Amino acid sequence: MGLSVHMLPILGDNYTYILVSDNEVAVVDPGVAQPVWDYLQQHNLKLTSILCTHHHGDHIAGNAELKKKSGCKIYGALKDKNKIPDIDHTLEEGDVVTVGSAKAQVIATPGHTLGHISYYFAADKKLFCGDTVFAAGCGRLFEGSPQQMSDSFDKIAALPDDVEVYCGHEYTASNVRFARSVDRENADLIAFEKTVSEKRSNNEATIPTTIGLEKQVNPFMRCSDKLIREHLNMENATNAEVFGKIRGLKDSF
Ligand SMILES: [Zn+2]
Repeated sequence: MGLSVHMLPILGDNYTYILVSDNEVAVVDPGVAQPVWDYLQQHNLKLTSILCTHHHGDHIAGNAELKKKSGCKIYGALKDKNKIPDIDHTLEEGDVVTVGSAKAQVIATPGHTLGHISYYFAADKKLFCGDTVFAAGCGRLFEGSPQQMSDSFDKIAALPDDVEVYCGHEYTASNVRFARSVDRENADLIAFEKTVSEKRSNNEATIPTTIGLEKQVNPFMRCSDKLIREHLNMENATNAEVFGKIRGLKDSF
């Protein structure tokens, strides 16, 4: 059976995801336990694992209580071994995690944090990338360098266009406002801005996005774009330099 995904908005602008395949259930980044537990109870689901993308509290604060209630196992990056309490299984790039018959490859996506990982369910065409790629944006560089985050974006951009991207936050509207300031004539971005504002005014999620859409609207995936480079006066810079410049502008936007 394929992987089904239920998105749960928590803590104002975080998303946690409940994944079900066959008789197994995983939750990605439970920043709080109660709403996840309530959902599991209401749907008669038995939690088997917690998949952590990184060690920040708004992604792991629900771990301990969910583990205590369900006996589930906690998966996270080897590099976060001492930062994610009660971790049972440590992961590195290339490792495979299963949820029932669904399989995820672990992709190292450092930048936001050094140990940040993403879970790519290739057959199901779904990526859970925490605070790496956001719709039309990117996570803040709390621990990593622009080069590291730019390399992480390159890995994600290399996935097929129809892969759905499930990120950790609903930041799309403000990301789009910023994107418009550096990528001014992008017709795809202008169209996306309209879609996003309609969805948000109806209180609808803008997630998942897709790899193909991000390549069209996300300035951090468009560091080689001629007009963006011209606008920034960075025609001859490397992609990582352009990436770093855009990230800096976003930080003070
Ligand atoms: Zn974070």
